[in-house]
Amino acid sequence: LDEEIELMETVGIKFETGKALGKDFTVDSLKKDGFDSVYLAVGTWKGRSAGIPGEDAQGVYDALKFLRKVNDGEKPEIGDTVVVVGGGFTAADAARAARRLGAGQVYIAYRRTRDQMPITDEELFETEEEGIKIMYLVAPEMIEVKDGKVAGIKMNTNVLGDVDASGRRCPINVQDCSDFTLRCDNVIMALGQKDDGSMGNIKVDHETLSTGMEGVYAGGDSTGAGTVIKAIAMGRKAAAAIDKQLLGDEATMEYIDKLESVDKYDVLERSGYKRNINRFDIYARTAIERIGDFETFTRTLTEEEAVKEATKCLRCGCGEGCSICADICKEFAIHLDGADRWVVNVDECVACGMCYNRCPNHNIEMINLGLLDDNRQKVGSASSCDRGPTPVCDVH
Ligand SMILES: Cc1cc2nc3c(=O)[nH]c(=O)nc-3n(C[C@H](O)[C@H](O)[C@H](O)COP(=O)(O)OP(=O)(O)OC[C@H]3O[C@@H](n4cnc5c(N)ncnc54)[C@H](O)[C@@H]3O)c2cc1C
Ligand code: SF4
Ligand code: SF4
Repeated sequence: LDEEIELMETVGIKFETGKALGKDFTVDSLKKDGFDSVYLAVGTWKGRSAGIPGEDAQGVYDALKFLRKVNDGEKPEIGDTVVVVGGGFTAADAARAARRLGAGQVYIAYRRTRDQMPITDEELFETEEEGIKIMYLVAPEMIEVKDGKVAGIKMNTNVLGDVDASGRRCPINVQDCSDFTLRCDNVIMALGQKDDGSMGNIKVDHETLSTGMEGVYAGGDSTGAGTVIKAIAMGRKAAAAIDKQLLGDEATMEYIDKLESVDKYDVLERSGYKRNINRFDIYARTAIERIGDFETFTRTLTEEEAVKEATKCLRCGCGEGCSICADICKEFAIHLDGADRWVVNVDECVACGMCYNRCPNHNIEMINLGLLDDNRQKVGSASSCDRGPTPVCDVH
């Protein structure tokens, strides 16, 4: 992260920390200060409640608050049996944290089916390996309370109905089906996040991520909880829209929803890749060992293993082999190095940006490495990577 921040600073990005939108500044004040565009990426911070009786009992936690406490080194009180209501990343993290805090039985109660669960196969595998049990097609009806404390959770059985607004089949309670109660000591609510209420769940135009206010864009979780990758993609999309807003026809950024794909096996053949070789087990601790604490349980590869792993690299960037970058370079600065790897000879590259603009796969980055002196002579060198050449440049 430090390296990335440093790189951003070299291209002129300034960081202002310790200031909050709505408290220390507003969108209007930013505009008055001369900013033509504003991109809101403030995330979403409050957990949703289920709106069922008993939610205020002692022993009911909001998953985000619970995880924040754990992250701060606190040990929230956890009994032997814990039910986590939800089915996303937060539910899995909360269940795994509860297990590490000493809970003997941890259940995740999810209202839909596995194929609709947002967590990845890897996360589900690790969660179940740690002894956490997943209950599908169940919905909480009420939390049973005794002496002000959680005593159990009453649940209904669901079936799947028609597709809803999220594009998934909607869970519906089975009518006249007997409810059941699971005795437990804690209930952790992980039903997704909402914003903190000050800005609303920001509505945007899906093509441009414009909020409708001139020059104001929003993305990431502030427009609805999602994933890291989705937040990054939205940042890129908004950057292209802002570039267009500021530079009109001169704009150079383009957002491509889907990159062109290449025939994987064609590429594999050319780079001598063999399937299923060099697979290394990265789990350094068994499930039983790792639930005893919050320490990392995967290991990094040794240098030798990493080198072996790298021989599997698809080199997908230049696997295309279209050679447009090399053909278009008027300085003949791009050369083929081995079967698929295009490299820029930094002594020949004049950072014109032609290859950057033409690469159909957006493999090439123009990075200001501060390599130009006052007379605009190149005084340093640039590196290249397996994804494609990385020319030096003084404009991006
Ligand atoms: C427990 C949990 C586990 C998750 N696990 C995964 C996972 O395994 N994989 C995955 O892909 N996604 C996961 N996610 C989702 C992922 O974290 C988010 O989708 C992603 O972080 C969204 O990025 P963002 O930049 O929109 O918002 P955030 O990452 O939330 O960043 C928002 C930033 O804005 C700042 N901010 C908030 N309010 C203000 C304000 N008023 N003024 C100024 N700054 C403000 C915040 O301090 C924060 O730094 C998880 C989420 C949670 C809660
Ligand atoms: S870097 Fe881009 S333009 Fe150059 S060969 Fe690879 S895909 Fe083609
Ligand atoms: S940026 Fe460099 S490598 Fe790319 S086309 Fe221009 S001179 Fe050639």
